[in-house]
Amino acid sequence: MTDLTDRLAAGDPLSDDEWRFLIEGGYEKQLLFNKADEVRRQHYGTDVYIRGLIEISNYCKNDCLYCGIRKSNGKAERYRLTDEEIYRCCEEGYRLGFRTFVLQGGEDGNDTTERIRKIVSAIKENNPDCAVTLSLGERQRSDYEIWHQAGTDRYLLRHETATRSHYEKLHPPEQRFDERMRCLRDLKEIGYQAGAGFMVGSPFQGTEELIADMRFLQEFQPHMVGIGPFIPHHDTPFAEYSAGTLERTLIMVALTRLTLPKALIPATTALGTIHPQGRELGLKAGANVVMPNLSPVQVRGQYSLYDNKAHTGQEAAEGLAALKKSVAQAGYRVVESRGDFGGNERTEACNCGDR
Ligand code: SAH
Repeated sequence: MTDLTDRLAAGDPLSDDEWRFLIEGGYEKQLLFNKADEVRRQHYGTDVYIRGLIEISNYCKNDCLYCGIRKSNGKAERYRLTDEEIYRCCEEGYRLGFRTFVLQGGEDGNDTTERIRKIVSAIKENNPDCAVTLSLGERQRSDYEIWHQAGTDRYLLRHETATRSHYEKLHPPEQRFDERMRCLRDLKEIGYQAGAGFMVGSPFQGTEELIADMRFLQEFQPHMVGIGPFIPHHDTPFAEYSAGTLERTLIMVALTRLTLPKALIPATTALGTIHPQGRELGLKAGANVVMPNLSPVQVRGQYSLYDNKAHTGQEAAEGLAALKKSVAQAGYRVVESRGDFGGNERTEACNCGDR
């Protein structure tokens, strides 16, 4: 086992059988988590970066079968934030110590190219020391170019699954696997720090699909990877499927850290939702980012991707003091910096005043 993790960390290619063994976890998992933690410390020390997550709209024209805000869910109470509300979230976030704002939403027809361009420009102008991340789904390349030009630093677009036939079981036919992949490649080419990712334990996912996800990460080399357990939402076609497990999710986080030593990997809200210690365990398995909720309190319950989604306490921006404490107890330290891709190298480069 330690031979395999050493080889993975050294960038050696693994066979399908070797991947299957690592993913299925029939060994002492603590050894894997320790190795992932060691690699994370080489590049990022004990730093944990915080991102203020602003959920700007839950209107969505897509119909992902797993997602609570899919367009066919007539029971979802819809909302969208005004420009002013988004700016107020950023002001509050800055005051609390956030230096990255993530604007996430459903694919809302109201989010025109120009509206988002204007919002990003304003946030960057008011907060020149902050990074802006967008997570607004699939768009034309020209939109991504314009938003990057306006100052957007990063873009999160999970690939969801790297297996075409599996993708087609999680999405309606109008949502194309090739289109999702096209978007990811465009984002990287344009110069974003690009984020991919997947759910663990989504319906019809087996070990083979997870092997494909790992091989995709190896090939695509994203800067960020979001990994969380699938959690059913009661008003979706997947209501009766069971959630992904803590153990399998931690294994995938650790394997991702070994595969992409410098990646920014969040201990996701979904991980914190399925287990009270999920976030801390994620950090100890190689994650180095947390994304507390900075949306206006009155809409937080409505951005309901899955049942019981945590949005209070340490998952909330106001809970930052408590979050800092529990991160410290886990052996790490919340830092108030942009937390760009690159770890130690990048920090040294930044001292030369390049930003
Ligand atoms: N519209 C944006 C944001 C989607 S929501 C986009 O397309 O990228 C962010 C992520 O939440 C999704 O990429 C998906 O991986 C995750 N998600 C959605 N429903 C979920 C569920 N039921 N359980 C766990 N994660 C879910």
